[in-house]
This record gives sequence, structure tokens and C-alpha cells, in this order.
Amino acid sequence: MIYGTDALVLREVAVGEHDKILTLLSPSEGQITVSAKGVRSSRSKLGPATKLFTYGNYELYKKGEYRYIKDFSVIEPFFGLSRDIESMALASYLCEVACDITGEGVSSVDVLRMTLNSFYALSKELYPRPIIKAVYEMRAAGFSGFMPDLEYCHVCGNTAPKEAMLDVMNGCIYCKDCSQKHLDAAQKEMYDNPELSERIVYCRLTQSSITAMKYALQAPSERMFSFDLTDEAEMRYFSHAAETYLLHHLERDFATLNFYKSLLRT
Ligand SMILES: [Zn+2]
Repeated sequence: MIYGTDALVLREVAVGEHDKILTLLSPSEGQITVSAKGVRSSRSKLGPATKLFTYGNYELYKKGEYRYIKDFSVIEPFFGLSRDIESMALASYLCEVACDITGEGVSSVDVLRMTLNSFYALSKELYPRPIIKAVYEMRAAGFSGFMPDLEYCHVCGNTAPKEAMLDVMNGCIYCKDCSQKHLDAAQKEMYDNPELSERIVYCRLTQSSITAMKYALQAPSERMFSFDLTDEAEMRYFSHAAETYLLHHLERDFATLNFYKSLLRT
């Protein structure tokens, strides 16, 4: 059976001399594994269909355990991503996260939309890269079922703390006054139960960085980056909390993230 679907190339793995195995992300089917035979040959007309970050309409057919590409038309190649190594590295990390939080046969409309919006923003340089990364990380955590409650201090109920701590593993915040008491209690509990030490992770936040995190989680996808966070320190709090929150809940590290961060250090 031949059928068509819009899809984004999330992963490409070279196989043999001329072939590739692709992971596509489609809105209705989620991840699709595709065998692309002969596409690394210069004569293949399907070569552009198999490049990482390409979004297109794919005509697919199934044979054995794989699907194969019969035809393809490009919707958006995101050429802008390859102009700059940092944007390319960040886009590779977003692809790896998208691979982690989606699966085969599961609708992935929201993840696909936020990935396309992020690629568009990166390729057109519409927003700073740290904003795009942090917003993507928060939304990825939310779509994976790890939605934090940032509305009030979970000890005293203060709804607008000027400074606060994010309790990463419990997905909530404590105002400055309560966070020290909570940390003392947590440390005492950890002293009695050393295996809890990996579960106690706090990130410092301010009112503006909390507002940014809430916006990232709740904004409609077409306006997901449309907020102001220009203060460098506030941006650092937001960035650090978003990355820490996602990585701890997915319980993994990403080689592409480490590469992206190595570029920032040089
Ligand atoms: Zn409090």
C-alpha cells in the first residue's frame, strides 16, 4: 500500500555505501523508520528527501519490516540551519529530544509543531538560541507528562515569590523563606536515606524566570517564543532550570547537547 504523509527527518544513519535508515516524525503516526536505498549516490533523486531537518511530503510503501520512499516533495528544507554550526548543533539536540519523547504509532502533532516552529525560528534567527532551547525543553517536559506546578510556593502558598527554588524532582517551587527550611528537611531525610540524594535537585529562580517558564509551558505553539527575558541573569536561571528539569525527568544525557555546549565554551 502506498500512502502519503508530511514528516520531518529527525535522524539519518548511513548504511553500507549508498543507503540510509531514517527516522521520520509524522503528525499522525509519530516516528516512522524508513529504509532509503541508494540515496547517497549522486544520481538519486530522493537524496534531498533524506537530509536531516528536511520537512516534506513523503509517499511511502511498506515491504517487510521497513517502509520505503516512493516519492517526495519538499515543504521546508530549513537551509538556514546549516549556515551556522551552533544553530545546526542545537537543532540536532532538539531532534534527539523529539526522538526520545515520541514513539511509533503515537500521534505527535504537538511535538512536530514545536520542532518545526523552533527550526523556523533558528533558521531565520528570530529569537536568541538560549530562548529557543529553554522553551523547547520546558514544552518537551510538559508533553512527556512532567508538567511542573509553578503557580505558588508549595509550603506557604505565596503566589508571587520574588525569589524561589524549583524542586526539580517534585515539579514545584518554594519561595526563598520556605526553600531553606525545605532544603534542611530534605538534607536531613537524605542523611537518613542516602539513596534519596539523586532525587534532591534544586534550581534557583526569580519572578521573571518563573513567568518565562510558565509562558513556555502554556503559550499556544504559534507564540511559544513571544516573550521578553532580556536580563542576562534571569535568562541564565531560566536556561539552567529548563535543561535540568528536562534531563532529570527523561533520566538521560544527550551527546548532541554536550556538543552544542562545547561550542559555547570555545
Ligand atoms: Zn513559601
